[in-house]
Amino acid sequence: MVNVTADEIRSGLRNNEFILYYQPKASLITNRIVGAEALVRWRRPDGTILSPGAFVPLAERERLINRLTLQLLPQLIGDLVDHGLADQLCISFNVSTCDLEDPVLTHAILDAILTQRLPPAALELEITETQALQSGPEVLGNIRALSDAGIGLAMDDYGIGYSSMDTLSQWPFTTIKLDQGIVERMLDSPKNATIVRSSIRLAHELGLEVVAEGVETVSQHDFLVEAGCRIAQGFLLSRPLPLAEFKAFCAHPSHCRGLPVGLVHMAI
Ligand code: C2E
Ligand code: MG
Ligand code: MG
Ligand code: MG
Repeated sequence: MVNVTADEIRSGLRNNEFILYYQPKASLITNRIVGAEALVRWRRPDGTILSPGAFVPLAERERLINRLTLQLLPQLIGDLVDHGLADQLCISFNVSTCDLEDPVLTHAILDAILTQRLPPAALELEITETQALQSGPEVLGNIRALSDAGIGLAMDDYGIGYSSMDTLSQWPFTTIKLDQGIVERMLDSPKNATIVRSSIRLAHELGLEVVAEGVETVSQHDFLVEAGCRIAQGFLLSRPLPLAEFKAFCAHPSHCRGLPVGLVHMAI
């Protein structure tokens, strides 16, 4: 992994080097693309592209994550509104709970709904289960304001934390995202399969949508369909793509790299 410093992140922020890629999500019922997850990438001056694992944890520790999130938000809203993604798709955006400790991000999103015609149903925020558990009341207050405005809330990496049940009942989640580790292991043992099946059933009974992350194989896809999961995301469908490629993928899934939507069974 590349080692970066806080000063390099600051310089990257000044030079607008952070961009969003989009990883498609498909309905397991219709096989159509129903949305995407926005994932940050750092385009360095030398042309290399860095993944968030190399800089997001440092940005969080150095309290630079709020600046990064606020810099990505106009990009995201521009892509949603000006590039028409918001008309048909729901795009999720990862936030850290420190982004929600003060009301700046919340106000920026509410303002975009009012002044930039951002349809609230087109945006969902992803927060990890672990972060949700560790956050204070001001975070939940801001989340509630966004939720009241119609913005979705997904619990990211579901299944690797501790007290999901309590958090699920207290917070206005609309979606859970099954962690890719859980998806990877669900075919290893009958116990793991049962955990996934019952998590999906529980979420649906609570009125929540379920997205399976990290779906890489046809057997995982088939198991999830049989378990009643309705949305999947993962390399089987597509890797995260730059905006132009993502738009091309949505328009002509079978002409792009990644797997043709509707033909996932022919993939392997
Ligand atoms: P995440 O939110 O759980 O995102 C899913 C990660 O899984 C992404 O990694 C994605 O590329 C990867 N992935 C998707 N499908 C597959 C698959 O089939 N197999 C495997 N092995 N991996 C798959 P990525 O883009 O490197 O992001 C890593 C993490 O960085 C994210 O995990 C999220 O926690 C964080 N992150 C990404 N973008 C942002 C952002 O804009 N802001 C913040 N605060 N965090 C971000
Ligand atoms: Mg995520
Ligand atoms: Mg995740
Ligand atoms: Mg993750």
